[in-house]
Amino acid sequence: MARLSQEELLTDEGIRSDGRKIDEARPFEVEVGVLTQADGSALVRQGKNLILAGVMGPYEAERHSQYLDRSSLRVRYHMQPYSTNERKSPTYSRREIELSRAIREALEPAVILTELPRTQIDVFVEVLQADGGTRCASVNAASVALADAGIPMRDLVTAVAIGKVRDTLVVDINDLEDENGQADFPIAMMPNKGKITLLQMNGLLTQDEIKRSVEMAKRIIDSLYAVQVNALKKKYAPLAAPNEG
Ligand code: ADP
Repeated sequence: MARLSQEELLTDEGIRSDGRKIDEARPFEVEVGVLTQADGSALVRQGKNLILAGVMGPYEAERHSQYLDRSSLRVRYHMQPYSTNERKSPTYSRREIELSRAIREALEPAVILTELPRTQIDVFVEVLQADGGTRCASVNAASVALADAGIPMRDLVTAVAIGKVRDTLVVDINDLEDENGQADFPIAMMPNKGKITLLQMNGLLTQDEIKRSVEMAKRIIDSLYAVQVNALKKKYAPLAAPNEG
């Protein structure tokens, strides 16, 4: 992994190592329903991140694991060995367990679990290519896949990581910025509800920087959300208006 100085991460002109401006997100694309056998699916590109989310369910939970009054949401985040610049061990890691939990906690407030008692919903996230911020890209893919599966939801969940390089806040950090920067601050929201569902922090930020990070994230999240909604509309809008055209 290349070591970059703070000046290489952000030039005097305010240009980042990959050519972006401080408030410029990476290109973001969402494709809905890419898998035919899963109940719901989405493929997300967020910069060089390529993430596939497949949803199974809701299905009747096994007796020992069922909640009588609600559904239970399980998430498995998995990184392919070829997804990183250094081969990742195929063994399921502690980091993958922790990220699975973080992603589930980010999604859970949006899913109306009480509408589906005694059921199970499983989300399988495959990181096919990683370049920083995969937990956020995974949340973005998984929430669309849940919607595609017809799971009742309060809103989609949309996420982006804010970082700090050369004492400056930058949006949607990539792996180089994550590795060499001063902070990594992933944030997920239910954009239409104005609710934050995930806040994690690696590094140090002042109180003012935290406040500004959330504002920067909100602006990016609104634009990512529009892409998620459009991807769902592309699949479902033609079905909703059969008499038109
Ligand atoms: P996130 O992907 O949400 O930012 P981390 O901060 O843990 O989560 O990881 C940052 C980045 O480091 C990942 O997106 C990926 O590009 C890289 N990475 C993570 N795990 C490995 C690994 N085992 N080997 C090589 N690179 C990795």
